[in-house]
Amino acid sequence: MDHFLYRDGVLHAEDVPVAEIAATVGTPFYVYSTATLLRHFRLFDEALEGTDHLVCYAMKAASNQAILKTLAEAGAGMDVVSEGEYRRAKAAGVPGDKIVFSGVGKTADEIRYALSGGIRQFNVESEPEMEVINAVALELGTTAPITVRVNPDVDAKTHAKIATGKSENKFGIPIARAREVYAHAASLPGLEVIGIDVHIGSQLTDLDPFRLAYQKVAELTQALREDGHDIRRLDLGGGLGIPYTRSNEAPPLPVEYGQMIREELGHLNCEIEIEPGRLIAGNAGLMVSKVIYVKHGEGRDFLILDGAMNDLIRPAMYEAYHDIVPVTEATPGVEPQPYDIVGPVCESGDTFAKARLMPPLEAGDMVAFRSAGAYGAVMSSEYNSRPLIPEVLVHGDQFAVIRQRPTFDDMINRDTIPEWL
Ligand SMILES: *Cc1c(COP(=O)(O)O)cnc(C)c1O
Repeated sequence: MDHFLYRDGVLHAEDVPVAEIAATVGTPFYVYSTATLLRHFRLFDEALEGTDHLVCYAMKAASNQAILKTLAEAGAGMDVVSEGEYRRAKAAGVPGDKIVFSGVGKTADEIRYALSGGIRQFNVESEPEMEVINAVALELGTTAPITVRVNPDVDAKTHAKIATGKSENKFGIPIARAREVYAHAASLPGLEVIGIDVHIGSQLTDLDPFRLAYQKVAELTQALREDGHDIRRLDLGGGLGIPYTRSNEAPPLPVEYGQMIREELGHLNCEIEIEPGRLIAGNAGLMVSKVIYVKHGEGRDFLILDGAMNDLIRPAMYEAYHDIVPVTEATPGVEPQPYDIVGPVCESGDTFAKARLMPPLEAGDMVAFRSAGAYGAVMSSEYNSRPLIPEVLVHGDQFAVIRQRPTFDDMINRDTIPEWL
């Protein structure tokens, strides 16, 4: 459920007409709904009610400071994957003890920065990384709380580019080697081993792969406890999928996910951590774009938009489907027609949809890409020298620009000319 609905035929973001935002900031732009962000965060928080838990928003999904602050004020922790994200979390007011540091390539500098600033735990992805965390902790005269990310070798049945839990993926330590790796971790004086971490992929639409992975984590918890480790925290990753189309079968709800977690792991009396990103931000955001031209091609009509793959790369990168809806609702009874919906970038990959049924549209009409809140703005670039598009946050009947569109000069002046030119 989200808060982007038509009222009297006009698409609204909460109580604000989308066209009013467009008139202020120009197109294309991203717009997020505060109520939807909070609703999704609370669904997870409530799903684990009664269990000692922390929902750590995986901020790589959408990391604008205003989004982070909205969630932080509601009590969210943060899952970060770089020093930049760590700094963003801190800047949004998240205390260090609610920040989890994930990612396969943490550098010594990043580790030092986070350990000095305060950290809930590092999720360790490899033995060499473990050595570096140990060395940095000793250098700082402290100990680093860690979990080890295990790779449970389960098939997440999701897009290959976002599956992370098979043995062929670069993530984590093979679960079969976990006892050996934990024994080594326990021997390093700069580390405090506190738990286990697992994250098998993104956009999972079935609970079974999660369940399989968590069963393996439960077994491992017992084995590690027998080995003498004080396993008291389980970080179960993110990955719960969202409905991108209104017609496909509904992915499991957070409440069902929470129930499954209790069933599989409740008896272990561990603190539970989850790291949802997409499910919190995905349906909380739209990308709004304007039709520049309607071009009649051979056997097909193209809607050429002012938004492009540099603004929303998911269709080009993951063959992702986004619902695309007109900002002014179609008049009932009007026959929809198929369009190829494309951006102006000089690549055939700059195609958002093929033969998509839409009401007849004309130059100047606006469309909204639904479910664009996660992995949208954060993955955008200035390819083709198209300045980054603005982000807007709506709260009831108010809206605010939360990231300005740079001017062309801002963009150009970021480059510097060497003295020999
Ligand atoms: C990307 C990622 C997440 C979030 O995944 P979603 O599918 O957005 O929920 C959580 N944890 C880790 C370690 C990740 O890499």
